[in-house]
Amino acid sequence: MPAEGRGRGGGEFQAWFRTDGDCLDYLEWLRWPGGFTCPSCGCAAGWRLGDGRYECAGCHGRTSVTAGTIFDRTRTPLTVWFTACWLFATAKDGISALSLQRSLEIGSYQTAWAMLGRLRSVLVRPGRDRLTGRVEVDETFIGGEEPGLRGGRARGKKVLTGIAVEVKEPKGIGRCRMALLADASSASLHPFVTGHVEPGATVITDVHQRRSQRAARARGDDPGKLLPAVHRVASLAKRWLLSTHQGSVEEAHLQSYLDEFVFRFNRRRSRSRGLVFYRLLELAAGHDPVRYRSIVAGKRPRKIPPTPPAGRGHPPSLERPPAERPWRAADLDYSG
Ligand SMILES: [Zn+2]
Repeated sequence: MPAEGRGRGGGEFQAWFRTDGDCLDYLEWLRWPGGFTCPSCGCAAGWRLGDGRYECAGCHGRTSVTAGTIFDRTRTPLTVWFTACWLFATAKDGISALSLQRSLEIGSYQTAWAMLGRLRSVLVRPGRDRLTGRVEVDETFIGGEEPGLRGGRARGKKVLTGIAVEVKEPKGIGRCRMALLADASSASLHPFVTGHVEPGATVITDVHQRRSQRAARARGDDPGKLLPAVHRVASLAKRWLLSTHQGSVEEAHLQSYLDEFVFRFNRRRSRSRGLVFYRLLELAAGHDPVRYRSIVAGKRPRKIPPTPPAGRGHPPSLERPPAERPWRAADLDYSG
């Protein structure tokens, strides 16, 4: 267990998920809290086969707990997956693929990077709530920063990003949303606002008056003064990309990194890190399987070896002696 996993709630994590079987049982409990339900026909009767899969009593279809989730057909042991989820959900700034690879002794950078990519891909739940109340909206350029450029590497491209942030009364910041915009036109900004802000909310923006911060500064305006919340969130996101990920995020993947930033930012005041971990696993277990191909669409990540993902990058299990499975026994309320 890496040191990062021993933070708040880490003890509980350590105690709960000792074996790959514990993790599988937890996923089963998440997926079928009332017992097995056939994903094909909805029949609630079935039996477990010798290989751990279930056979439906109605249609005799066979399925596994992980089928239809991001853990489908994974060759990475579930103890490794769960530890990665724990670090992703509970580390203050998340974890980079390189740190993940090193701390869990995952054989290839590519495997670690793809695991994080799969986790990022489940964070945006279709139909999630839109922002309400007073909402600041602005657009800003994100990405392209790269500290300590060496060897004449080209600077990445900056991408125009829409940011919406709830402003609390009398002060404070609520939830945020971020999405890449095709361009600086109203036709691009409008669907961002309608997609992320509830009708009836009070939208505060000066985007239409001020198309570039340079123009605003030339007029002597301070864009941070009018829209302090969006500028605060934008600078935090930029700093996170530079620190945790050293700015090495390709444009094709920027949206998924912003999704990760938003996921963590919007849960920054969660009373329990365990709840954030639970929420992440719930999203992961309820999501369609994510194929490696769909994550690597676009450019490939840096630092990857030129070998296919089916190489020898699959780490050994982090199994320890088994323990109780408290989610089965205790009356746990994790609905918060
Ligand atoms: Zn069935």
